[in-house]
Amino acid sequence: MSITKNLHDFKPESLMMSHGYKPSLSEGSIKCPIFQTSTFVFDKAEDGKAFFEVAYGLREPAEDESQGLIYSRLNNPDLEILEDRLTLWDQAEACAVFESGMSAISTVLMEFLQPGDLLLYSNPLYGGSTHFIQNFLPKYGIHVVGFRPGQTREEIEQILDETGHRDKLAMIYVETPANPTNDLIDIACCHGIAADHTSEDRKVVLAVDNTYLGPLWQHPLKLGADIVMYSATKYIGGHSDVIAGAVLGSAELITRVKTLRTFLGNMTGPMTGWLLMRSLETLKVRMERQAKNAAQVAQFLSTHPKVEKIYYLGMLTNPHQRAIFERQCESAGAMVSFDIKGGEAEAFRFLNGLKLAKLAVSLGSTESLAQHPATMTHAGMAPEEKEILRISPSLVRLSVGVEHIDDLIWDISQALEQA
Ligand SMILES: *Cc1c(COP(=O)(O)O)cnc(C)c1O
Repeated sequence: MSITKNLHDFKPESLMMSHGYKPSLSEGSIKCPIFQTSTFVFDKAEDGKAFFEVAYGLREPAEDESQGLIYSRLNNPDLEILEDRLTLWDQAEACAVFESGMSAISTVLMEFLQPGDLLLYSNPLYGGSTHFIQNFLPKYGIHVVGFRPGQTREEIEQILDETGHRDKLAMIYVETPANPTNDLIDIACCHGIAADHTSEDRKVVLAVDNTYLGPLWQHPLKLGADIVMYSATKYIGGHSDVIAGAVLGSAELITRVKTLRTFLGNMTGPMTGWLLMRSLETLKVRMERQAKNAAQVAQFLSTHPKVEKIYYLGMLTNPHQRAIFERQCESAGAMVSFDIKGGEAEAFRFLNGLKLAKLAVSLGSTESLAQHPATMTHAGMAPEEKEILRISPSLVRLSVGVEHIDDLIWDISQALEQA
């Protein structure tokens, strides 16, 4: 691969069909086979010894020595090639893939936090992430504190002071844009806070859940993040047929993440790895079409008499939010939320009236999906918190797919009539 790289700097979408795979190692098969195997045969005992020495960090690998295949909990070609391909989008040094977005996220939190540490996190987060942070981490003596979109650096610093554990800040965890209202968190500002609290012997890690806009439209590593996480179930998988996750960052940090993954055993299986490689070949065309459709759906909704308010990154009115958008996002994405005039009854009539878009949670897939955050994805959130974050009974969230735009607009229009 390094040879083709040197000849010409190929774009990621041009490399998704071939990067990291040598057909000659698989009988000339143009596609990477599914290596549905638990273990790998060593040619000779000396090889097995050498592979384990490197895997267990007993010695540094020689210059031209790559990690040999041992056992599919440690490594497997479908995972390694997938990881190599995923690094291209975020220009990351290394990647680790997981059996779900939640396993990627929980493994990162467990690796970089220890008892007594303080975690600062943005609100709102994906429900599963909130649950893990608020209910699991404190059991292990980890202090956690949240902040909200729109809070200034001074306000966040004050939140840190009020915890009494500011000197123990170990990680800042951010999800942006926030689900379901597309509120933006300033990654560069969080990087500044992390940098100010980092000392010689204590690095504050900035981790960003990039599921909502990545890996195409937002590149947190470039904005100062140390770790980027994905639910690969969403855009990366893109067909509503796999659950998977990914973590990217420097080789040093990803080695730590992979070591914990080895012992938790929450790596991706070969079949899922293979499905994700297949998905990556069309990632860019899918996402671009979804974003184009979303812009037209948002345009249609914004002038509709039954729509009260629209939450779409291409129509931000708050100047602070617009400034963050311009600094850190490369597209408005394919997620559009809106308040329908009325309340839950009107929202439900709209959802029940859809004929083409499906009524389901999840996002980033080829088919358009619609759901009701207040009673579905965010049902577990406290009522006061929902109110502060504007997750009202009239809010509907759309994930726009790749269908023909005329059909989507027709569907949304007729469902709005029924509302
Ligand atoms: C879906 C999602 C997750 C969880 O991922 P799973 O693959 O379902 O485990 C985490 N973060 C965000 C933003 C998500 O949308």
